[in-house]
Amino acid sequence: MTYKVPYNYLPFEFNNTKNIFKEWKKLIKSTDFTLGAFVEKFENQFSKFCGAKYCISTNNGTDALILALKSLGIGQDDEVITVPNSFYATTGAIVAVGAKPVFIDCDDRYQIDVQLIESKITKKTKAILPVHWAGASPDMSIIMKIAKNHKLQVVEDACMGIGGKVNSKHPGTFGDVNAFSLHPLKSLNVMGDGGMIVTNNSKIYNWAKKYRNHGMINRDQNDIWGVNMRMQPLQAIVAMENLKKLKKVISIRNRNARMMDKLLKLLINNVTVPKRIIGNIETFSLYMILVKDRDKLVKYLISKGIEAKIHYPIPLHKQKAYLRSKYYKHEKFPVIESQAKHLITLPMHQFIKSNQIQYMFYCIKDFYAKN
Ligand SMILES: *Cc1c(COP(=O)(O)O)cnc(C)c1O
Repeated sequence: MTYKVPYNYLPFEFNNTKNIFKEWKKLIKSTDFTLGAFVEKFENQFSKFCGAKYCISTNNGTDALILALKSLGIGQDDEVITVPNSFYATTGAIVAVGAKPVFIDCDDRYQIDVQLIESKITKKTKAILPVHWAGASPDMSIIMKIAKNHKLQVVEDACMGIGGKVNSKHPGTFGDVNAFSLHPLKSLNVMGDGGMIVTNNSKIYNWAKKYRNHGMINRDQNDIWGVNMRMQPLQAIVAMENLKKLKKVISIRNRNARMMDKLLKLLINNVTVPKRIIGNIETFSLYMILVKDRDKLVKYLISKGIEAKIHYPIPLHKQKAYLRSKYYKHEKFPVIESQAKHLITLPMHQFIKSNQIQYMFYCIKDFYAKN
């Protein structure tokens, strides 16, 4: 089915790949295929772009989260406070390093409820792992204050936050080490997988850089046991090309989202638009609202050629992976559980035009007029 309002923008985005091929040819000539100049150039560009001292690129965002946690020495039986309304990888990374995920509920902007963090801190708590969910940001200043008071570390999952702003800072520049993803559906993306961590701490940087590349000092000397989490230079080139366009992409998405927000506020009995915080420039990796009769509405919109999605119908604390794990604890997260029944994601990327926004609005309005 070809959609009138498609969710997938990749065919438009990668419509013109001339510059990418030009750079790829240079790479092929150089045979700099593992790390090397292109990867380093991207790392420098990204750390400048987001205002962090150091950037280390990785295979993907999940590896970036694992590398961030490992670089802080988080492991066996350490507790990490996070949210169960995220992609699997957030909790997956905590479990991958041997640590215990401790869940808390979220607020009405779908972000970690900062009021609840302190109630979950124990002697075993090592870190808080807030998510910039959907590309909006939680209250980082309160999170950093709590972390300081309790001597906890902070790892931001800013996988969806690239190009956003929290007051004047970039998401993923508050915590000790923070992770980003370049997955095709993130605000800065590549033709496959990619990710990075950033930090301002030179010790963490040096350790993580070594760990990413087998713990090597050089070809003949192995300092620590590491792994291979290296970014592909082919993807570093794609990332650099897309980084040039990112500001524009974010500004178009914000313009689109503002227009949609305004229209949807006319349907206040059936639709709830999340509060937008002044100073928080969102990336709109996901444009999510809460709606009545969600499942029926999704079906209706799809029948009208609008590629609506749900992120996600089952929160992490209700997934089999968690129910089966040794960390399982029966708990209720009323806000997240209620949102899971009402969330809908509408296409709101940089290739959406104002007539498509109007079309989506009229279809939603029609649905509630009929139902
Ligand atoms: C995409 C995403 C990840 C995982 O990133 P990958 O690059 O797909 O491994 C982790 N956390 C969040 C919040 C994400 O959106």
